[in-house]
Amino acid sequence: MLDLKEVIDRRSFMIIDGKLVSKEIRNEITLEVQDLQSQNIVPGLAVIIVGENPASQSYVRNKQRTCEKLGMYSEKHELDIDVTEKELLTLIETLNNTDKIHGILVQLPLPKHFDEARIIEAIDPSKDVDCFHPINVGKLATGVESFKPCTPAGIIELLEHYEVQLEGKDAVVIGRSNIVGKPIALMLLEKNATVTICHSRTKNLETKLKRADIIVAAIGKPYFLKADMVKEGAVIIDVGINRIETGLVGDVAFDSVQEKASLITPVPGGVGPMTITMLMKNTLEACKKITFDAK
Ligand code: NAP
Repeated sequence: MLDLKEVIDRRSFMIIDGKLVSKEIRNEITLEVQDLQSQNIVPGLAVIIVGENPASQSYVRNKQRTCEKLGMYSEKHELDIDVTEKELLTLIETLNNTDKIHGILVQLPLPKHFDEARIIEAIDPSKDVDCFHPINVGKLATGVESFKPCTPAGIIELLEHYEVQLEGKDAVVIGRSNIVGKPIALMLLEKNATVTICHSRTKNLETKLKRADIIVAAIGKPYFLKADMVKEGAVIIDVGINRIETGLVGDVAFDSVQEKASLITPVPGGVGPMTITMLMKNTLEACKKITFDAK
């Protein structure tokens, strides 16, 4: 019979607790917000939502609730689905010039008749807390200090909290979206990992995955990453949020992959809670920068 140590040695993986890390960071944010409040400064976030997409409504509610819990100001602008692009641009311009607003977020996706790129470019880059504006994306790509996009920033925080050494490690990112795949690849590169970005046209994906020390799965396909694609001891970050009949699941077949991983994020409770927390952090940073740099 195995003793406890042997059991632990044989199953020496850990589940990354995104809720716990998120709570720690939120506590730090709350303290900083209280300090700012004592100087009559309140970080403010404006969220714009167009139309009635239920998932978007729920994300926006969550963002507002979190703002309130952390002592920040938040305002929601709910626009009718048939609002014109000009009206939306006018609202963004107003918020760009509103002192009590330090972060502006347009909930994506927008209805089809909008030119999303044009809308994002209208946001003042110093208030672009999602880090979607080309100026901020350019800064990220060139390693200039600026906002970091929320989901990838949350992943880096998780890796750092669990003391994962990134330097010299082989990282494979599956997915090349502008909001997750590309920015997390850049951020891992910035941390001196050797990064391979894979996508739907990648050949020999499994060979690449089997060599990886760190895998970030951002695909949007339930249980895509299976145990036989993963090296023993790899660190697995599951970004996927997929709604299936039994509830929310990730892109990783958690039950089997956890047997081989040294660290793994669950869904829910892994990357998910970090995204809103990083949005709050970006809003706080924007507030400090706008307020104190102007003085
Ligand atoms: P996306 O824009 O749909 O991108 C998916 C990516 O996966 C694409 O680059 C696609 O390749 C690639 N892909 C699809 N099938 C593949 C395959 N068989 N093999 C290799 N690559 C494949 O998705 P996203 O916005 O990045 O989101 C990805 C997932 O993360 C979704 O489940 C989303 O809900 C979730 N998400 C979670 C959070 C969070 O806070 N936890 C935040 C954002 C997104 P091509 O480019 O070639 O099409």
